Amino acid sequence: MRYNYVSEFLKNKFGERVLKICVDGDFSCPNRDGTCGIGGCIFCGESGSGEHLKKAPIEKQVQNYLSSYRAQRANKFIVYFQNFSNTYDTISNLKSKYNQALIDDRIVGMSIATRPDCINKEIVDLLIEYSKKYYVFVELGLQTSNDVTATNINRGYSSDIFTKAVTMLNVAGIDVVAHIMVGLPR
Ligand code: SF4
Repeated sequence: MRYNYVSEFLKNKFGERVLKICVDGDFSCPNRDGTCGIGGCIFCGESGSGEHLKKAPIEKQVQNYLSSYRAQRANKFIVYFQNFSNTYDTISNLKSKYNQALIDDRIVGMSIATRPDCINKEIVDLLIEYSKKYYVFVELGLQTSNDVTATNINRGYSSDIFTKAVTMLNVAGIDVVAHIMVGLPR
């Protein structure tokens, strides 16, 4: 294989299958509310790239998953905050939302999807705290390292911001998954 599947990586790390529980944390995005842009990335849907998720309290979303047939396929789970930018809030709100998801002993980790311009020292420090008990990793939407293409898709940040965020997270020992779109026009 020329690339690693996250599912295989997690299986090797935990010694068994680990499934993601996708959660809508009811966040927003600075590229949609006018902070750094409006309208968002051109590929982003109304629900912030998590259209299949139903709106519900976070705890309820996790409970629903764990009590469904899907949870019969594994013993370990990672909560995946998927929609919008899941570090784009105050530290106290972030804590509250993350804690609402960590409600079951079978949950071994937390994956946070966000933008690199929503990573700063306070957020990294918060993630370090969670990583003492859980496997925490961050999923950053890069899509392309070409800044012209990034402008064309209205990504709203330059690629050096991505590099800085990854460096900050990796120095803190937090793994990063980069979301890439292959074949974007230049
Ligand atoms: S950064 Fe994510 S949530 Fe925000 S507009 Fe782009 S794809 Fe959507």
